[in-house]
Amino acid sequence: MRPSPESETADAVTRDALQRPLHDLRISVLDQCNFRCPYCMPEDEFHDGYEFLRRSQRLSYDEILKIARVAARLGVSKIRLTGGEPLLDRNLPDLIEGLAAIPGVDDLALTTNAMLLAPAAERLAQAGLHRVTISLDSLDEGVFRHMSGGRGDLARVLDGLAAAEEAGLDPIKINVVVQRGVNDHTVLGLLGHFRGTGRIVRLIEFMDVGNRNGWRADLVVPSRELLSRVQRRWPLRRLDRNYPGEVARRYAYVDGQGEIGFISSVTEPFCGDCSRARLSADGMLYTCLFASRGIDLRESLRSNADDEELTEILEQIWMQCADRYSELRRPELAEAHVLRKVEMYRIGG
Ligand code: SAM
Ligand code: SF4
Ligand code: SF4
Repeated sequence: MRPSPESETADAVTRDALQRPLHDLRISVLDQCNFRCPYCMPEDEFHDGYEFLRRSQRLSYDEILKIARVAARLGVSKIRLTGGEPLLDRNLPDLIEGLAAIPGVDDLALTTNAMLLAPAAERLAQAGLHRVTISLDSLDEGVFRHMSGGRGDLARVLDGLAAAEEAGLDPIKINVVVQRGVNDHTVLGLLGHFRGTGRIVRLIEFMDVGNRNGWRADLVVPSRELLSRVQRRWPLRRLDRNYPGEVARRYAYVDGQGEIGFISSVTEPFCGDCSRARLSADGMLYTCLFASRGIDLRESLRSNADDEELTEILEQIWMQCADRYSELRRPELAEAHVLRKVEMYRIGG
């Protein structure tokens, strides 16, 4: 039996049609961003006149908290705030405080490009944030600038990283989207910089999320190839997963200088134990990163559905989920962009 709202304990496990539990909720707080990474929000698509969600179209904090509480009742213990760029929302610590107080939520993280992190880190930590993941595609100034769509400032991002560490928002993970011929030649330099610092770099294959990021199979550097490039410089040994459903394949430097991860959604899909649901800023719930449609929870929230009804709705959505896009992906279809898919900046990665 599901626990009552009063005795929320997250010991109920809701499983989907493929027997996967729901553990992880990613919340996109807004769809706007101060970067224009070409692999996510290319400038020519997301130009000055582009219409992002209006304030009234976005979920309020109360609405987000309501869904997060219900999700925790169904087994979610891990929440990640994302976007767009979540730190463009200056009041984010208020939301974090509310999320940190939800029984059963024992991991509260934020993904950010870190441009606005330095002045915010302390307040985020005080509000109850546990850790941050920072997206940083290269330490080469020119490559970094290109990959942020000409908007990033590497020194500010590195200040943000240092401030997060100072505030205790660790272990800090660093996400690197690797594209062939764009930044793959700078990966070893970046790894060399972070080796021995306790920061965990994760090399992510360029994914065919959405339809507007110009995805091509030849721009993907398979993790296998990257792994052997890294191994040639620094021998690695495989580590066990921290928990079932962890997306990164973990490795340790044999010389004890820390850990790196590979996220290989394109070449080595991991749908079998996917336990993530995603909530967009306008209240659509998606059960897959590559979904073509979500379920409108804003509508239910704004027609005053109570916690019981929302729990029922969420439970039904998860129980019916049988998504496994990456396992079924056909690169020629992905390249032709024939399937309509939600964009990364809306669903938050
Ligand atoms: N703006 C924040 C940031 O960049 O950290 C949060 C949102 S962003 C959509 C979340 C993550 O998705 C980032 O680490 C980003 O690098 C990753 N991402 C975006 N588009 C991607 C793509 N096409 N393939 C792989 N990762 C992608
Ligand atoms: Fe913005 Fe993050 Fe997308 Fe880059 S990856 S455009 S920082 S939302
Ligand atoms: Fe989960 Fe969909 Fe990614 Fe598979 S493709 S791991 S189901 S989000």
